[in-house]
Amino acid sequence: MAQVTIRDVRTILTAPSGSRLVVVKVETSEAGLYGLGCATFTQRPRAVKTAVEEYLRPLLIGREADRIEDIWQSCYHNSYWRNGPVLNNALSGVDMALWDIKAKRAGMPLYQLLGGKCREAAAVYRHADGRDPREVEDRVRAFLEQGCQYVRAQMGGYGGRGWRTWSKEEAARYRRPGLPGEPSDEPVRLPPEGALPGEYYDPRSYLLSVEGLFDHLRSQLGFDVQLLHDVHERLSPIDAVGLAKALEPYKLYFLEDPLAPEDLEWLQMIRAQTTTPIAMGELFNHPREWTPLIASRLIDFMRMHISQMGGITPARKVAAFGELFGVRTAWHGPGDVSPVGHAANLHLDLVCPNFGVQEFSGFTEAEQEVFPGCPEVRAGYLYPNDLPGLGVDMDEAKAARYPGHEGPDSWTLTRRPDGSPARP
Ligand SMILES: [Mg+2]
Repeated sequence: MAQVTIRDVRTILTAPSGSRLVVVKVETSEAGLYGLGCATFTQRPRAVKTAVEEYLRPLLIGREADRIEDIWQSCYHNSYWRNGPVLNNALSGVDMALWDIKAKRAGMPLYQLLGGKCREAAAVYRHADGRDPREVEDRVRAFLEQGCQYVRAQMGGYGGRGWRTWSKEEAARYRRPGLPGEPSDEPVRLPPEGALPGEYYDPRSYLLSVEGLFDHLRSQLGFDVQLLHDVHERLSPIDAVGLAKALEPYKLYFLEDPLAPEDLEWLQMIRAQTTTPIAMGELFNHPREWTPLIASRLIDFMRMHISQMGGITPARKVAAFGELFGVRTAWHGPGDVSPVGHAANLHLDLVCPNFGVQEFSGFTEAEQEVFPGCPEVRAGYLYPNDLPGLGVDMDEAKAARYPGHEGPDSWTLTRRPDGSPARP
């Protein structure tokens, strides 16, 4: 095979469905041969663009495109200080693009280069959200009708939008006698005068609502459907322990991010108290955040965001590491991952024996227009196309129609009932 070198590296910013996406394009010395990689750090897109174009590009021009591991290691260490979200995303954009190029050169879909399929498609979990348990139930049923087997159930997003607590009437309708907490007479409360704007949530009313939600869903839907729930690090550690324990009778597939990365020592207490399966890692970017949790059997599913940890190269290593300890993969797959990133998740899902489930938020029409070749969901499974590489392309002219990468992100401005800032 003739040697192929890197001719140019650049970033493309686009937001076809509102989420700000960052894609890296690596062009080679061979006419028409290029690769795409996801580098989406939706809260700081322009910082990633600078890292790619000002710092990685000069290191990459003229390098052999096939030397992925060498390029990953040398770019990773070049900054000396490493493992931050900006630099890891930048590196991921390059890394995925190089895997895309290598598989295109081989004339194979990437999963072939990674060892070949263990499964035909990846089971996905979808997001069912509602204002009250009945609305959540309706949305879960809608996914079941489409053939989904895994559904994440949330009430009010991550338990906060509008800080809704149940009225007495709702509580009488949905609460099983003996659940903790008293229903409120005032379904909506207000922050103190002069409180700053933000997305408010009340950890206590959230905590008290979740057990009733799952009590309702299991009583109406039975135990065949795999239900999941995301705490989104919105509870104090001891309340997270209590919730994991309280949800045990409802047999969740997993409880997602019960703790913030700053509170990981509490995982041992969750483990000692309950068999509710635990998924962690959406916010991790450093190997020392996940290796001790896997080696100590403190988690059941790893949920890292593949671009956040540096791309396919580190992801396949941690997946293999997890396999040795019985920990399954459930890569982060929200709307702020580009279709290129979703394809990278999927190629790994197909080849990893310890795959668990794939989070999937669906693609809008605009996204499918900008990114031809998006993976497709059919009856609860995500399928790749069989084109060489990652299988997803990008129409740059259409991408340019969806700008909007200026300024900070707003949904992460979150606050507690007294107006104090909180984790999103
Ligand atoms: Mg999550």
